[in-house]
Amino acid sequence: MTDNLMEKIVSLAKRRGFIFQSSEAYGGLSNTWDYGPFGVELKNNLKAAWWKANVYERNDILGMDAAILMHPEVWRASGHVDNFFDLKSDCKTCKKRFKTADLKDNKKCPQCGGELTEGRPFNLMFKTYQGPVEDAANIVYLRPETAQGMFVNFTNILDARHPKLPFGLAQIGKAFRNEITPGNFTFRTREFEQMEIEYFVRPEEADKNLEEWIKTRFDWYINLGIKTENLRKRPHGKEELAHYASACTDIEYNFPFGWSELEGIANRTDFDLKQHAKQSGKDFQYFDDAAKQRFYPYIIEPSGGVDRSVLAFLVDAYHEEKVKDDIRVVLKLHRDLAPTKVAVLPLLRNRPEIVELAQKICGELKKNMVTVYDDTGSIGKLYRRQDEVGTLFCVTVDVQSMEDKQVTVRERDSMQQERISVDKVKDYLSEKINK
Ligand code: ATP
Repeated sequence: MTDNLMEKIVSLAKRRGFIFQSSEAYGGLSNTWDYGPFGVELKNNLKAAWWKANVYERNDILGMDAAILMHPEVWRASGHVDNFFDLKSDCKTCKKRFKTADLKDNKKCPQCGGELTEGRPFNLMFKTYQGPVEDAANIVYLRPETAQGMFVNFTNILDARHPKLPFGLAQIGKAFRNEITPGNFTFRTREFEQMEIEYFVRPEEADKNLEEWIKTRFDWYINLGIKTENLRKRPHGKEELAHYASACTDIEYNFPFGWSELEGIANRTDFDLKQHAKQSGKDFQYFDDAAKQRFYPYIIEPSGGVDRSVLAFLVDAYHEEKVKDDIRVVLKLHRDLAPTKVAVLPLLRNRPEIVELAQKICGELKKNMVTVYDDTGSIGKLYRRQDEVGTLFCVTVDVQSMEDKQVTVRERDSMQQERISVDKVKDYLSEKINK
């Protein structure tokens, strides 16, 4: 099954309305993707689960939503103007461009065997102009990470909310990088969404906090259903650390194209706050009331990608099962992530009383959980369709329901069916879905 798993995921994503190629009508914009009706639900559910675990269920993290455009000095202070480069090499024959790091010791073009240029630095930040005059004074950047919006608001947060160390800020938002080699579907794109926490700690506690966050974030993926054997931690070697980090561990997922990063958890030290203090001339220190001391906290940063996580959860949830002589495709997504919780299906769509009851039940359920109504096929087909998009329960209204006032509730993974009375079905499903 793993042979062409990525092809199956890309095909299902398109066929069922999870993810489409951007601007497809115009031939598509390469490596850019749009989320369709199920995709947006899955993505929103993933972000909500992250926000719940990190903001609502903790007492030490506050939410934020900073602008994408920031003062250009921010990116000078952060080091992105000077250091956010990849080296690129071009093939002199076929003109294909490569990230030099991907070539390892290969001196010839992997595509055509032609001669390659030396690695040349290429800044990954997208540039544009603010206002009508396109000159150097008006250059602004699309942020390459959401983190800086939290660092530059550090003193605003201290003044507004008076949090005590350790505390964190959390943010979900778009980031942009002019990647040299995007690809692997939504894994590496130039426009993507990040979920980032900046956790401010006493410098002497940074190592301990880094370890705690690595565990917390690893467990989050497992608790949402990622199979343990498909997730691992990979500490960075010194030579691969970003310019601001003293240590970093990646959480990697076993994608069909190999183990790849889902999230990085870094110790950014006091680099960013000190840099902003230097560049802006403002005070970015923390004042410890008890010790009457002013100092720069260290920052532990769990930084994950929304799109990469969505892809990992899709891949991990994809199952093909033999049912009698048929293959059933089912997305076994965690109940919190499943785009649709319930589908209500009338067994016979030409019987008005059945349709009427099914629609009534659907209307009631919709008030509490994401529920859809579907009567556009035979029951077998309707079940398969819901399985493919990960719907947790199907509620079927049949002839018998008219007499005993009961419906059949089918659970996605076990396919087990239970008869539940119409007036209890909402409570029954609420309990299962919200547990
Ligand atoms: P990579 O080494 O894969 O380029 P990175 O180490 O540069 O990633 P970070 O700067 O640590 O990535 O960004 C944090 C997270 O943001 C990543 O773990 C990933 O989930 C997400 N991310 C970064 N770049 C991209 C991208 N081009 N497309 C999709 N997600 C991305």
